[in-house]
Amino acid sequence: MKKDIIIAIDGHSSTGKSTLAKDLAKALNYIYIDTGAMYRAVTYYALQNNLISDNHIDKEQLIKDLNNIQIDFKYNPGKGFAEVYLNGQNIENEIRQMRVSNFVSQIAAIPEIRKKLVAQQRKIGQDKRVVMDGRDIGSVVFPDAELKIFMTASPEVRAKRRYLELLDKGEDVSYIDVLTNVLKRDKIDSERSASPLIKTKDAIEIDNSYLTREAQLDMVLDLAKNRINQS
Ligand code: C5P
Repeated sequence: MKKDIIIAIDGHSSTGKSTLAKDLAKALNYIYIDTGAMYRAVTYYALQNNLISDNHIDKEQLIKDLNNIQIDFKYNPGKGFAEVYLNGQNIENEIRQMRVSNFVSQIAAIPEIRKKLVAQQRKIGQDKRVVMDGRDIGSVVFPDAELKIFMTASPEVRAKRRYLELLDKGEDVSYIDVLTNVLKRDKIDSERSASPLIKTKDAIEIDNSYLTREAQLDMVLDLAKNRINQS
C-alpha cells in the first residue's frame, strides 16, 4: 500500500532547497510550496507601502495590515511550478531582488507574521502530497512530516550560486554584498526567538556543496519512495 506523505525541506539560505523541492515535487507529482516566497511577499508589501525606510520597519502598521495581505500560489505550466501572488499580482520576479532579501529575515522574525503564514501553510498541506521548503517546516509547520531534509553548504558556495543567479537576472550586485546577506540571514534565522532555524533530530542532513542537482535528487527521491511505500 502506498501512502501520501509530507516532505519538509529546511536549511540555510541559498542551499538549493527550492531546486531540490521543485525536482522532487515534479518526480512524485506532488505540490511544491516555497514558504520563503511567502515571507518575501510580505516584505515586498512592506516596501511597496513605505513601511520600510532608512533601515526601520514599521512593524506595528505591518501587523495591522496583515488582513490586507493575501498570498496565493498559482501553478505556471510553462515554468512547472506554482508562482507567488500578492493581492492578485504575480510577484515571483520582484521578490527575488536584493532589496527584498535585505529585509526579509527581519520581517520573518515577527511572531504575528509567522502565525498567519504558518496557518496558511498547514492548510495547504492538510491533504499531504506536498513538498514544502523553508526554515521551520520540519520543526514547527509539520513536526510529523514523514520525511525531513536539512540542507546546508558552505557560505561561499551558497553566495556564489545566488550571485550568479542574480547576475543572470540582470541585477547589479557584488559577490561580497551577496555573501554578507547570506551570512546575515543565517544569523538572524538561527538566533531569532520565534521558530528559529534548527535541525530536528529526525531530519536527514545533506551538504550539497559538491553534489550535483541529479545526485541530490536521486538520493532524496530514494528516501521519499521508501517512506511512500511503507504501509
Ligand atoms: O527561502 P528564502 O531564502 O527565499 O527565504 C527568505 C527568508 O524568509 C529566509 O532568510 C528566512 O528569514 C525567512 N523564512 C523563514 N521561514 C520559512 C521560510 C523562510 O523564516 N519557513
